[in-house]
Amino acid sequence: MQVKAAILRKTNTPRPYAISKPLAIDEIDLDPPGAGEVLVRIRAAGLCHSDLSVINGDRPRPMPMALGHEAAGTVEALGEGVVDLEPGDHVVMVFMPSCGHCLPCAEGRPALCEPGAAANGAGTLLGGARRLNYRGEAVHHHLGVSAFAEHAVVSRHSLVKIDRDLPFVEAALFGCAVLTGVGAVVNTAALKAGSTAVVIGLGGVGLAAVLGARAAGASKIVAVDLSSEKLALARELGATAVVNGGDEDAVEQVRAITSGGADYAFEMAGSVRALENAFKMTRRGGTTVTAGLPPPGAALPVNVVQLVAEERTLKGSYIGTCVPLRDIPRFIALYRDGRLPVNRLLSARLKLEDINEAFDRLHDGSAVRQVIEF
Ligand code: ZN
Ligand code: ZN
Repeated sequence: MQVKAAILRKTNTPRPYAISKPLAIDEIDLDPPGAGEVLVRIRAAGLCHSDLSVINGDRPRPMPMALGHEAAGTVEALGEGVVDLEPGDHVVMVFMPSCGHCLPCAEGRPALCEPGAAANGAGTLLGGARRLNYRGEAVHHHLGVSAFAEHAVVSRHSLVKIDRDLPFVEAALFGCAVLTGVGAVVNTAALKAGSTAVVIGLGGVGLAAVLGARAAGASKIVAVDLSSEKLALARELGATAVVNGGDEDAVEQVRAITSGGADYAFEMAGSVRALENAFKMTRRGGTTVTAGLPPPGAALPVNVVQLVAEERTLKGSYIGTCVPLRDIPRFIALYRDGRLPVNRLLSARLKLEDINEAFDRLHDGSAVRQVIEF
């Protein structure tokens, strides 16, 4: 079938993207689902910093690529062997497919699935296939999803079925921002009720971490960013204090607010400097979690004596250490209960044709989550 999709052919085009238009909206060929795959009609797809990092070249990926990895939609057709979904089912897309058989999967850590990571790096679906073509030329899948398109063929292992009454625009957010941000708090850090937290970088993932810390019962949540608008939004979402990350004494301010350092720091900005500061903002015995993705090759200088003698913990967090089949339903339950108001992350609803301008806004920091509706 022919579908309209946003295709990236080359990275690192000059901004503004409204003029250079790195993403072309083209009619491309989508093959039917193969064994273990599913045809999904995309209903909503969110714009994430990880898409931007492919566009600007920070995350090298094979080109051309159909972008988009945070989405929700309806099942339209099933490939051979898919027996646990039906046409019409509502699904959230998960940007790391998990095979269920490799060692990390067997250990209950599907975010680290080895064949899933290999497929994502190669720009294929989990089974190794590519189902997208433009005039005979293969187009790569983005993180097994490629959701800036009217339809997508994905592995069954890239989907989590959800209830039909959740609006698609909200459902889409659970696939990346919520899994990554809330998961970093409740899974990676396993934040204890009554403890203190600092969140650095208030994009969709960072603000979701603020919501997660609040839902998990943090007594103090300090939000850090360079944008006063985002600091104000963080306050509305439950931050108990805010600090401008550009202040010379930002670290000292956070340490003072948290009486000597936070129990947990979450670095969501994707910068080494932010991670260094996050580490300094924790107390003795504190835990620093990073879900930010700086360019490849970025390295962190760590004071090893401090790490040892102060029993500090430094943890990476990918997809919030989530088990999507377990965590998407439970995060949705918290949302329905009013304890995780992720709809507050929504800045705008867009058409696919507006995508380049929308990435300018994401780059400028003037939008949190913008979602394309189909
Ligand atoms: Zn994302
Ligand atoms: Zn696996």
